[in-house]
Parts: sequence; C-alpha cells; structure tokens
Amino acid sequence: MVEVGQLLAEGKGKRIYATDDPRKAVVYFKDEAMAFHGLKRGRILGKGEVNNAVSRQFFQLLKKNGIENHYLEQIDSRQSLVWRAEMIPVEVKVRNRAAGSLSRRIGLSTGTVLEPPVLELFLKDDYLENPMVNISHILAMKLATKAEMDEICRTALRVNDIITAYMKEIGVEVIDFKLEFGRFEGRILVADEISPDTARFWDVRTHEPLDIDRFRRDLGNVEQAYQELLHRMMGMDDATEGDGGNA
Ligand code: UDP
Repeated sequence: MVEVGQLLAEGKGKRIYATDDPRKAVVYFKDEAMAFHGLKRGRILGKGEVNNAVSRQFFQLLKKNGIENHYLEQIDSRQSLVWRAEMIPVEVKVRNRAAGSLSRRIGLSTGTVLEPPVLELFLKDDYLENPMVNISHILAMKLATKAEMDEICRTALRVNDIITAYMKEIGVEVIDFKLEFGRFEGRILVADEISPDTARFWDVRTHEPLDIDRFRRDLGNVEQAYQELLHRMMGMDDATEGDGGNA
C-alpha cells in the first residue's frame, strides 16, 4: 500500500500528492469546479468520483491502443496512482467541432464541424491566462524539443481517433478535449486527466452537453450529466479489465 505524502500541486479539479515512492504520485479528484479563470466557482456533487473513474477508463483504453500514459491503478473512488512525470507546461487541445474559446476567437458558430480536426497549443500559465502559442514559441522558450512536440501533436491526434470511436459506441460525440503531457524516464506520457472537466462531450442525438459546460453555462442538471456519462461509459466493458502496471 502506498503512503500518501506532501501536496505537490493543486489545480481546478485535482490535488497531486507525493508518495513514499519517488517515481509515483497520487491524484485526488475534487468536487470543486471552476470556470472562467476562477471567476466562477462551485461544487458538483460526486464529480470527483466520476472523473476518477472516467479518466481511468480513458487511460486504460489508450494503453490498450499503445499510447503511453501516466496511469497505474485506482486507489479508491476518488484517488488514483500515477507515474510522477515531469510536466510540460503546454495544454494541447484537439477540436472536432467549434465551441467555447475557438468560436469566440475565429467566429465559427458553435457546432461547426472541423474537418480535419484542429490542434491548438496553449502555455500553461494562470497568471498570463494560458495564452495560445505555436511550436516556435515552445522551442524558443525551451519548454520542449522539436522531437517532443512532433510526438505530442501526433499522439494528441491519435488520442482523438481512439476516444472519438469509443465514445461513439455509447452515443457520445467528442467535441473537443485538452491534454497535458509529461516526461518520465526518457519517454513522453499522456498525463493529467481526461474527463468531462477537460473535454466537451455531447449526446449524439440531442447535442446536450454531458460535461463541465453545464456548470459554465448554467444549463442545469450538472450532477445528472456527469452520472449519465459515467453510466454510459461503465456499461462498456473491455477497457476496464484489471489495472496492472503501465511500465
Ligand atoms: N479546457 C480545459 N482546461 C482549461 C481550458 C479548457 O480542460 O483550462 C478544455 C475545455 O473543457 C474544452 C477544451 O479544453 O473541452 C477546449 O476549451 P476552450 O479553449 O474552448 O475553452 P473554454 O471556452 O472551454 O474555456
């Protein structure tokens, strides 16, 4: 059993703790929700449990498809054990339809299909409110190498193909999502989380959001939407078989 140590980082929806093994960390998923760079705050009951389970499901699905990631095993309903990667401070967003900041920035109405998918990079810096950057900014700031960025962008698009196909089976369309990557023992891993806090998931039939947009936009039934997503995903079987190591 792993010993949980000091708090390493706290974000909008998670806390990361050190463990007695320097190669591993614990992710604790909170119910607290935040939007608009902290201007809107609240609580979504049961969100931590949903995000822990959903994130686990996605990371195991990625592993089965040969995409290396930080996930190791679930500890309890709100906590998971992960590799302690050195995080690259870049947010990678993949978009299949226009929504949110993209619609505002380039004037495409919400729901416009983006084919091929759009890939965007943002500097992870709360003080600067996460500005959009391109690869040359990232190289000049020495945040990652060209080879790392090529791998990260390629991987993000593969993740899109994998999770889009998977969610389609349960009547959910992946509109967009955000990924973060880390370095671990010479490899690049998908890290952080993949959950309704970091993605837009629409019901295929009604186009109703099953994600954090219900909280951001005061659409109501926020808890129910998180539970609905969880139930649909848990109804699917094969990505959940056993935890096992990810090394
Ligand atoms: N996103 C995220 N963390 C952020 C900002 C956005 O996980 O700090 C996710 C968001 O939930 C959506 C995708 O990234 O699934 C694209 O977000 P967008 O740029 O449209 O920003 P938003 O308008 O959602 O703030």
